[in-house]
Amino acid sequence: MDLQLKGKTALVSGSTQGIGYAIAKRLLTEGARVIINGRNQQKLDDAVAKLKQEVPGADVSGVAADFASANDVDALLAAVDEVDILVNNAGIFEPKPFEQISDEEWLRFFEVNVLSGVRLSRHYFPKMLKKDWGRVIFISSESGINVAEEMIHYSTTKTAQLTISRGLAELTKGTNVTVNAVLPGPTRSEGVNEFVSQLAQGQGVTLEDAERDFFKTARPTSLIQRFASVDEIANLVAYVASPLSAATNGSALRADGGVAKLII
Ligand code: NAD
Repeated sequence: MDLQLKGKTALVSGSTQGIGYAIAKRLLTEGARVIINGRNQQKLDDAVAKLKQEVPGADVSGVAADFASANDVDALLAAVDEVDILVNNAGIFEPKPFEQISDEEWLRFFEVNVLSGVRLSRHYFPKMLKKDWGRVIFISSESGINVAEEMIHYSTTKTAQLTISRGLAELTKGTNVTVNAVLPGPTRSEGVNEFVSQLAQGQGVTLEDAERDFFKTARPTSLIQRFASVDEIANLVAYVASPLSAATNGSALRADGGVAKLII
């Protein structure tokens, strides 16, 4: 299927690794021009080089910006004035008992996970409305509808993204702009690999055993009983970014392996 993304420009926040990197790669494979982002210039340069190697002819560049800094975001917006597709992917997660989460951490999670998408959308979304075409995609999480009690601050930010996404979609009425959220479930990104390795080390078991145990005890409702691959998430995001998905607007689309026990 041709996703008709040739000639479109996409910005994917937080894309030097994990789900963001896979989304960038998938969009490049479809012929889109992609701007990737990360905090560290060296890591960003390495990711651009790797994408060029993995996708021959890829039109990819990188802009460094830390979403915990409003100044960095302003610099990014000055460097990239307009895009057709905005993927709000940058995000942080860390299990922590509720009573140990400080005000500073609540605010940091809010700034990186929520304000990042707000600041970028505030700039790009009105321009999309003006030219009457655009895609805004928030990478939320199954934890946004299925509160993860081991990281309530994280879950809160992922729910907030769903409200912003639906709210912006309301403003697209009668246009060719869509705003949607994609909700991954447990996905084997670099960040999650680190998390599972620590779990395995702590329990003195192999990675495979830790994964099996994770799905047995922490995510028993998962229908696939394994981590999704980052490419499996990127496939859905690429479709939502495509002109082919025009009738999908204001939706929260799950790619969660069936973890959330919901019919819709
Ligand atoms: P990851 O840790 O592997 O990658 C995160 C990316 O975000 C990295 O490129 C990192 O550089 C970037 N990033 C982090 N903080 C940043 C900041 N302050 N400024 C700029 N960039 C920053 O994570 P991932 O698992 O690929 O997660 C990506 C998104 O998917 C996140 O929003 C996460 O909440 C969501 N998600 C992940 C899972 C999962 O199981 N992996 C599940 C549901 C939702």
